[in-house]
Amino acid sequence: LHILNPCKTLPIHISDEQAPDEGLRMQYRYLDLRKPRLVRNIALRHKVTKAVRDYFDSQGFYEIETPILTASTPEGARDYLVPSRVNPGKFYALPQSPQLYKQILMVGGLDRYFQIARCFRDEDLRADRQPEFTQIDMEMSFVERDDVLTMVEGLVHSLFAKLQLPVPAAIPRISYSEAIEKYGSDKPDLRVDMVIQDVSDLIGGQTGFGAFDQALAEGMRIKGLVVKGQAHITRKEQDHYKSIAQGANLPGLFFIAHTPEGYKSSLLKFLGEEKIAHICQQMGAESGDLVILAAAPSKDLSVALGKVRLELAQHLNLLDPQRYEFLWVIDFPMFSWNEEENRLEAEHHPFTSPLPSDLERLESDPLSVRAAAYDLVLNGSELASGSVRIHQRDLQARVLKCIGLSLEEAETKFGFLLNAFGYGAPPHAGIALGLDRLVAILA
Ligand code: ASP
Repeated sequence: LHILNPCKTLPIHISDEQAPDEGLRMQYRYLDLRKPRLVRNIALRHKVTKAVRDYFDSQGFYEIETPILTASTPEGARDYLVPSRVNPGKFYALPQSPQLYKQILMVGGLDRYFQIARCFRDEDLRADRQPEFTQIDMEMSFVERDDVLTMVEGLVHSLFAKLQLPVPAAIPRISYSEAIEKYGSDKPDLRVDMVIQDVSDLIGGQTGFGAFDQALAEGMRIKGLVVKGQAHITRKEQDHYKSIAQGANLPGLFFIAHTPEGYKSSLLKFLGEEKIAHICQQMGAESGDLVILAAAPSKDLSVALGKVRLELAQHLNLLDPQRYEFLWVIDFPMFSWNEEENRLEAEHHPFTSPLPSDLERLESDPLSVRAAAYDLVLNGSELASGSVRIHQRDLQARVLKCIGLSLEEAETKFGFLLNAFGYGAPPHAGIALGLDRLVAILA
């Protein structure tokens, strides 16, 4: 035996089964990486990026690198800054995305661009959010929304085929408002088929049940979920779902157990058996099922029930990691209200085009304006976001004004883009997919 190099006693066990303390794993990352599972994950990431490059190449895209030391490219987070040695007191911003560069490329006549781009966003950590991450970024000229969606569907198909995964069928599309209404989320997990239903009209009139009567009188809604085969859940489980709802500002949940022996519910004495039976039947609840009802203002109610829906799905093991359910969510609101700063902000980014049909309300009722923006959702994760862009100088200046930028400020920050639009900028649209999220879900 010829010893190449001696090895000390290992501080962590190298096997897929053993998962020692996360801190130790990070401290000895080079040992952690020796685990077969980690090597498989890294190989998968390589295969995904290779498939992405091959696909875009086959579609006539050029891969173009854009600068890292740049001027600020806003995507709703804070910038990371790098001091300039040669211009003391001045800073570069690291790109939150290549958004502005790819738009400039479109004006420059490079009609199909993509990049596997590193992006930097200084924001609070979450499980699926890192300060430094990689996007599959693309942009196309002379296209409309559906051209981008079709291109991305092609990418998903070719990727899944190369990875020998079942190729997903046509990807369904729903509007943002429908997603909130039915699933209480703008990134619904379609592995769960529970849908939020509005039963206000079924309950109607005076029932004698204070919480419902008052809610309806104040213009709120009553909505609910049917949970298949869960009529038997315990009081303790009910309390758990109530606490999830309370965490989402929904004070109460009311349960109807549709058991083979009849209906069991605290609502029985107010609504009566006939009405309860009618509600269950209309909601599609059968014997053995559980109905959950609640009352609150419409959107808040859907959002809270959306959280309960996900918690139930987790608890009932409905989130099969081997299943891939894609969904397009379209027609997002153009703006949201930033309470802290007391101003409108762009829901996607300020280079997104409003829907032409809503344009006339841009100044008079901006919160009602929808954007030509779309998200690709996979298993309840926002996998990609994109939009049709503004390509006219005047409209861009109007949108920047809506979010509180005066013409001078807009000129200082984005003058180069506004100017570029003055030289025959083509209509263009694009999207970016989170590479790390995609690989994490596939792994
Ligand atoms: N720049 C956007 C983002 O990073 C994606 C896009 O609109 O293409 O979210």
